[in-house]
Amino acid sequence: MCSRQIARSLSRALMSRPFTPSVNIARLKESATLAVAAKARSLRAQGIPVIDLGAGEPDFDTPAFIREAAAAAVEAGATRYTATEGIPALREAIAADANRLLPSGAEPFTGAQVVVSNGSKQSLYNACVACFGPGDEVLVPTPSWTSYYEMLELARATAVPVFGTAAQGLKVTAEQLAAAATPRTRGLMLNSPCNPTGAVYTRAELDAILSLADQHGWWVISDEIYLRIAYDAPATSVLQCAPARDRLILINGVAKAYAMTGWRIGWSIAPLEVTRAMIAVQSHTTSNPAAVSQHAALAALTRVDDANAAIDAMVRAFHRRRDAVLEALGAARALAVHPAGAFYLYLDVSSFGGDDPGARFSAALLDAHQVAVVPGSAFLTPSWIRASYATTEAIAVDGVQRMVRLLAAGA
Ligand code: GLU
Repeated sequence: MCSRQIARSLSRALMSRPFTPSVNIARLKESATLAVAAKARSLRAQGIPVIDLGAGEPDFDTPAFIREAAAAAVEAGATRYTATEGIPALREAIAADANRLLPSGAEPFTGAQVVVSNGSKQSLYNACVACFGPGDEVLVPTPSWTSYYEMLELARATAVPVFGTAAQGLKVTAEQLAAAATPRTRGLMLNSPCNPTGAVYTRAELDAILSLADQHGWWVISDEIYLRIAYDAPATSVLQCAPARDRLILINGVAKAYAMTGWRIGWSIAPLEVTRAMIAVQSHTTSNPAAVSQHAALAALTRVDDANAAIDAMVRAFHRRRDAVLEALGAARALAVHPAGAFYLYLDVSSFGGDDPGARFSAALLDAHQVAVVPGSAFLTPSWIRASYATTEAIAVDGVQRMVRLLAAGA
């Protein structure tokens, strides 16, 4: 064999070696919520009429005034890089939007504290890697959105699930958090209204949790992406609780309330030094979010009356669906967390038995009834399943009726 042949066969041998994931991602799991959405799409593409209650994505179109602003921005040249942290006008508009929630007399946020990102998911990731690292423990009220656990894993920190009880709508109390804390606890993830349960923390519950975090100097990462989507009463933001804000990172975005999932615009508001750290992270990973999307978000946040009218109409529709799916549940309603916000129904299917009743129920529901839902194991609570009613009322009710039939039939 000549040396060139030897080199070629060596490089072929190297290429055929199995991939060993790096230590960074060795334990990382793919997003279960996105995986269910992908599966539903692929079954539909094969002609199977799946009812998709998996994805947490509003079925509404982005309001017309936002789409028009985006089209005008492209024509006006919004096609280039922007500053990593976003265009100044949007950063200011985001600060102004948050300032509306602050108690009177509180020092307002400025645009300099804002980092605009490719969706609140990126902002949550930026915050986790900026604040936490190896040896740090972070309390995660559980069930929580699947990506919190994995983002903390990517930050090489330790997610410490703190389980809520069914009697308290799976919310956690300050006492439970205190009991789970150790000297290594560095922070806490908050999310109200909650994905996956739809539970909403009261002002008193948030006050108690924030004051505990303040006493211990914990970082609080508050994901308020569902804040505007609440039914029984307006949801409380941590900003209304007037906490010490030197350890608070507020996360929000336009995806859910403004029906702008595909535009990928989220943001963080944080103390300046944390903001600088998150800008550095983002500067080396994605740079700025899409210029056109930033202009769309700018219209959403600055044309306040138009936006409020659009959001109110969408929330009224979600509210009707929430009521309709609760009615469709009938007696099985006793198995659900009361969905006071977001657009999820969280249902106890432990009657299906086994180690992972939620996975058994979800698989049977898809096979026998063509309804896609997310197994609760994605949120570390395998006895449950999550169904999203961010779809038409008729489809949501049809899907829930099929769930009820399966529950009645048993495993
Ligand atoms: N947040 C939504 C959900 O939980 C969208 C999918 C995702 O990013 O997880 O379904």
